[in-house]
Amino acid sequence: MTEQPTRDRGPDAGAAAARGFADRHIGPDPAELTQMLKAVGHGSTAELMTAALPERILSSPGQWAPLELPAPAGETEALAELRELADRNRVLTSMIGQGYYDTITPPVIQRNILENPAWYTAYTPYQPEISQGRLEALLNFQTMVSDLTGLAVSGASLLDEATAAAEAMTLARRATRGNGDAFIVDSDVFPQTLSVLRTRAEPLGIDVVVADLSEGLPDTDAFGVLVQYPAASGAVRDPRAVIAETHERGALAVVAADILALTMLQSPGAMGADIAVGSTQRFGVPMGFGGPHAGYMSLREGLQRQLPGRLVGVSVDNAGKPAYRLALQTREQHIRREKATSNICTAQVLLAVMAGMYAVYHGPHGLRAIAERVHGHAVDLAARLRAAGCEVVHDAFFDTLRVRVRGGASAVVAAAAERGVNLLAADADTVGLSCDEATTTAHLEEVVAAFTGSPVAGAAEGGRAVPQALPGELHRGVDYLGHPVFSAHRSETSLLRYMRRLADKDLALDRSMIPLGSCTMKLNATAEMESVTWPEFARLHPFAPLDQAAGSVRIVRDLERWLAEITGYDAVSLQPNAGSQGELAGLLAIRGYHRGRGDEGRDVCLIPSSAHGTNAASAIMAGMRVKVVACDDGGNIDLEDLRAKTAQHSGDLAAIMITYPSTHGVYEDTVTEVCRLVHEAGGQVYVDGANLNALLGWAKPGEFGADVSHLNLHKTFCIPHGGGGPGVGPVAARSHLAGYLPNHPSQPEAGPYTGVGPVSSAPFGSAGILQISWAYIRMMGEEGLRAATEAAVLSANYVARRLEPYYPVLYTGRGGLVAHECIVDIRGLAKQTGISNEDVSKRLIDYGFHAPTMSFPVAGTLMVEPTESEDLEELDRFVDAMIAIRGEIDRVADGTYAPEDNPLKNAPHTAEALTADDWKHPYPRSEGAYPVPELRFDKYWSPVGRIDQAYGDRNLVCSCPPPEAFEV
Ligand SMILES: *Cc1c(COP(=O)(O)O)cnc(C)c1O
Repeated sequence: MTEQPTRDRGPDAGAAAARGFADRHIGPDPAELTQMLKAVGHGSTAELMTAALPERILSSPGQWAPLELPAPAGETEALAELRELADRNRVLTSMIGQGYYDTITPPVIQRNILENPAWYTAYTPYQPEISQGRLEALLNFQTMVSDLTGLAVSGASLLDEATAAAEAMTLARRATRGNGDAFIVDSDVFPQTLSVLRTRAEPLGIDVVVADLSEGLPDTDAFGVLVQYPAASGAVRDPRAVIAETHERGALAVVAADILALTMLQSPGAMGADIAVGSTQRFGVPMGFGGPHAGYMSLREGLQRQLPGRLVGVSVDNAGKPAYRLALQTREQHIRREKATSNICTAQVLLAVMAGMYAVYHGPHGLRAIAERVHGHAVDLAARLRAAGCEVVHDAFFDTLRVRVRGGASAVVAAAAERGVNLLAADADTVGLSCDEATTTAHLEEVVAAFTGSPVAGAAEGGRAVPQALPGELHRGVDYLGHPVFSAHRSETSLLRYMRRLADKDLALDRSMIPLGSCTMKLNATAEMESVTWPEFARLHPFAPLDQAAGSVRIVRDLERWLAEITGYDAVSLQPNAGSQGELAGLLAIRGYHRGRGDEGRDVCLIPSSAHGTNAASAIMAGMRVKVVACDDGGNIDLEDLRAKTAQHSGDLAAIMITYPSTHGVYEDTVTEVCRLVHEAGGQVYVDGANLNALLGWAKPGEFGADVSHLNLHKTFCIPHGGGGPGVGPVAARSHLAGYLPNHPSQPEAGPYTGVGPVSSAPFGSAGILQISWAYIRMMGEEGLRAATEAAVLSANYVARRLEPYYPVLYTGRGGLVAHECIVDIRGLAKQTGISNEDVSKRLIDYGFHAPTMSFPVAGTLMVEPTESEDLEELDRFVDAMIAIRGEIDRVADGTYAPEDNPLKNAPHTAEALTADDWKHPYPRSEGAYPVPELRFDKYWSPVGRIDQAYGDRNLVCSCPPPEAFEV
């Protein structure tokens, strides 16, 4: 054992208090840590780390990695700093438009969804029985999108509008194999959409052909056509001719549609479109300087099996009652690896829930009224401008105008900014302006004054009468949101209770530990969350001039610097809005690097068989060929196989993608050797950083041989999971790849000018939630972050050690230790007794727990990641539940319980089943309900019994079922 400057973690309560936030973030107190250390047989956490970590990955022998970070701030201090940063932002009235609009978040939704841990700390609804509330909320979202777009099936959210368009592009190609490689895009499309399409098209050999579609389709063999509706310029054109021509050529028609405009305009589906995409931001989700917001995609009957992302569907539980769950292959689309059609994993659940609730709050007529008001303002503004002698370009528009000013655009934009309004300089001669829900007549007056120089313009009639500037043939009646949920909750009392009722159905971190391997469900501290809804951060438009966003930019720059320091890389881009997008960005950087050196032929990506499914899916999207590297019996990368593969591919190797510590929860000893072999063969090393919680403060991927990584700020850095999003997936790279990181057409400061183009709609991605990770690092500091890593690794080893006598722990590394998670093997017991990992998972619900990760990375197992945030009492409560379940399994084995009718197979038990007058099961009701006595005092009741997945897949229903379905 080398000398370790062990931190003072003695049981001195005074010293602990002085350490501040870290001790609130880290669950076990010093006394508990000591007790846990004893159980795993180590004297200190530092000693445990040096025993577990391979010496070769440490910066210096036996030594942790120093982190140059500011000394930690307390919660009050950090909030004061954030307050000061917020004050550096100047929120002007935004009329920039371009896909982002000011909106009014109903306070009841802001407080009870966005600011409510019951919603934001929930995990992705893979365990549907404990997720009925958020699944219902997502079904509302799907129904809303499906109704408004007039298409049969809507997914439960995508990452943003531009990536949704890119997903539609690849979907169209898959669905129309053999129709050429061109995708035709309307020239009047948002610039960020076009840029993301180009980024995503290039590696796949897709030709993005830009054309003015008002003149018909260009003469190109294309598999798809995208038209924007209304167009980016605001013009409302009838897309029917384009759609018809598209179909005549055997291609698919994609309409990128504004969700609010659709309350007044003919739906894409009604006009024959195959796919609609867009953003639901303006349905009550703040702009947040770029995100997060829920992108949407809906499609016509017949294409649903191609849908990227998640789809919520209706099935039945074991009592035949309707119950929701993720439908079809979308439960885990990306687990299909290189056969996956999309790499989307984390999406935008929380924001989709908000947008759906906005529709529940306003109802169809409320939404229509908002749209009419917005449209009325635009009509009013056009009239005022015309009266003042300005040239308004289009006659048909919804909310957005173009005004021609002959070389004067920047002067008008500057004059408007002086008056507190941001407009868009569409080009040197054209000013763009968009009205939105927050627009007032006073704003219109300021805008006119900015054009004319005179504060009181020769005004037209103030516009309440809704003079229409929409073409008559595109008018739409209120033929949407007819489901009762969109009219049942007009009063706030009713809506409040509806949201509460849904939240109460779900298990989130605010009720119990969520021991999910690979997902790091740690504390999302309130002090980290608080500033998210401050208007100075929330109401900034992503294309606002940077001098109005000084505070937000400072947060971006701090975070980039801190993450580079933590990971040992040279450059960081915060643009990717999920881990999957960070993977793509990292692989595109590798691709750019090889091509920059004239190495065009390097396109093989090696991926170990244990990898997360997104890895292979991302490699395909980056235009690479996936070759799988085997793992040995210990779960480690098989070096022999790797040697063979690198030798075989020395001429065409692009990269290897590994996860460290591995998805098996083990610090592989051979990682530096893996890096060396790949580098020698001319490849680059991508380290998937989703497991950084096991390394932070101890080792840095950028120093032990990797070239690029993504991180998941929604795992390691405290952004809550939101029930399946939002996420932030920054990509971090060494200097030779830095020039190939993402950039953005609307913001030169967002990336290198040599970059590969944008991977997200917004320049800085989901900038509106970066304060969370900023606050975490700011409050933890070097010592705190390292202590968190140590506590996470200690907790995992403690759990593994305690479970071992009851369940085999599948893989361990040096010293018999695991990293930050452990795999519990149920397969042997399953073989003996017929009790599966699923039965154990569902039985855990009866004990009040969310299940661990099921069957990843090894089928038939459970993976547990306790994180540093759970105190010893909660860890023990979980372990005790697992031990009690083992006892139940033994009772199946010895015949006490019937093999098919026992508390495990019948789990979870609903109150209804347990109180039924005809209880027919051969074990007492109390054994079903209260397997451990504490449950009699505090019990989570599953609202539905075990859900029949297959039934739901056979009978696909993915919009709200009618109320009669719930009749008793
Ligand atoms: C979570 C995870 C990802 C994907 O990240 P998302 O943010 O969900 O897209 C990739 N790799 C690993 C190992 C992960 O655990």
